[in-house]
Amino acid sequence: MATTTLHEPDAMTGTEDLNPFHIAQRQFDAAVKYLPSITPGLANFLKRPEKVVTLEFPIETRDGTVLIFVGYRCLHNRARGPGKGGIRYHPDVTIDEVRALASWMTWKCAVLDVPFGGAKGGIAFDPKKFSARDVMKVTRRFIVMLGDNIGPHTDIPAPDVNTNAGTMARIYDTYAMMHPGENNLPVVTGKPVDLGGSLGRREATARGCLFCLQRALERGILDGRSSVEGATVVVQGYGNAGSVAAQLFTQAGAKIIAVSDSRGAIHSPDGIDPDAAIEHKRQTGSVVGLPSSTELSNEQLLALECDILIPAALESQIRGDNAHTVRARLIAELANGPTTPDADRILLERGTIVLPDILANAGGVTVSYFEWVQNIENEQWEEDVVNEKLLKKMRRATDAVIDKQEEINSSLDKLQAERVKHGFEGEPLEPVDLRTAAYVYAIDQVSTVTLERGIWP
Ligand code: NAD
Repeated sequence: MATTTLHEPDAMTGTEDLNPFHIAQRQFDAAVKYLPSITPGLANFLKRPEKVVTLEFPIETRDGTVLIFVGYRCLHNRARGPGKGGIRYHPDVTIDEVRALASWMTWKCAVLDVPFGGAKGGIAFDPKKFSARDVMKVTRRFIVMLGDNIGPHTDIPAPDVNTNAGTMARIYDTYAMMHPGENNLPVVTGKPVDLGGSLGRREATARGCLFCLQRALERGILDGRSSVEGATVVVQGYGNAGSVAAQLFTQAGAKIIAVSDSRGAIHSPDGIDPDAAIEHKRQTGSVVGLPSSTELSNEQLLALECDILIPAALESQIRGDNAHTVRARLIAELANGPTTPDADRILLERGTIVLPDILANAGGVTVSYFEWVQNIENEQWEEDVVNEKLLKKMRRATDAVIDKQEEINSSLDKLQAERVKHGFEGEPLEPVDLRTAAYVYAIDQVSTVTLERGIWP
């Protein structure tokens, strides 16, 4: 059945609250402590969404059945520019997941210094259970009902889980039907290259993650390893982000020893050929069964000894109840929200480095921004130009986050004194991980712009 209820399940594991929006707010609260000049009122504004639209709409499938679908679009913050964020098709989509993903987009765009705010959308259904024609109807109906909640200068969608360039082409086409005679290409990014898409966009999320990791290793965040060459890598999730990461990391000299998708995981200590895994998934629907590999459970995959673990599937994969099993030295978050706050605390204690999503997977939105600029200027940049610009953005952002972590951790007493001066009480400030440093950097950017503009009216 393609419908979902409107209530949000308060998923709990043990004592941990896995509601994604609660997680996003906990992350925000943990960071804003390091920005004592931000008043509680401003903080409250920054962590809440500006707008959430819920739409319920029918589709008549080929056999004449009428089904109701529920979709959401959330605009979190537009202080720095129009909303930007993907559209997800997945049965577990909830209003709070969309809120969380939208807020992560706000912080991500600020970390990368991309002039967008944060937004996200989703429809709660499993497109794999429907014909391509039914999925197209769902897409078109959703976009028509969203109406001017999206637009080239207000809120610009992009691909996410179970949506791709083809979906973006439908979104563009539907929106263009509603706005004839205008340049509508910048209303959506991640389009096919022959329809205004940017060269390099499909690979951008994974490529940005590689650039980020390379820079972080050069900066010495992992003792004894200054490059990805020779590193052992595990990838959870083998879709757009994960499979391309496996290819690019292999090209950079790393060895992929395990990968997974929603149907299971495979392991090969001698290395997995990423192209063979892609082909196997294309033919069979899963990476499971790839010749010369052994099958693993998802939990076993996350617990494999390796240099780098790349979660590239969904939220809350590494939690308080399993973080202690992770034996990777570094986690590069290609997915959004794969690590919960309880897991972060455990990983920090154990010395596992986490390159956070709002930095490590920001290559996608960065090249989406390049696509938007190309569309507005009616240009098509060469792929090496796109990749070179992405490299610069990712290196600058990675440096900014590492510098921020160093700055905070070397001035904890001073920050604590400022907190007291601003009337805050509470526990002494602890050293921060890279996620909190990235948040502090981003919140500072967004709050500065908010105050420059002034709270209207
Ligand atoms: P996708 O639909 O192309 O791929 C998702 C993959 O995860 C599929 O292989 C699926 O089988 C697998 N998967 C689902 N549940 C799983 C589970 N429990 N265990 C293991 N694998 C599982 O989606 P995508 O675009 O690659 O997005 C993946 C993640 O990356 C999401 O968190 C998304 O928000 C994030 N992300 C994507 C982009 C982008 O440009 N596509 C940009 C930034 C972040």
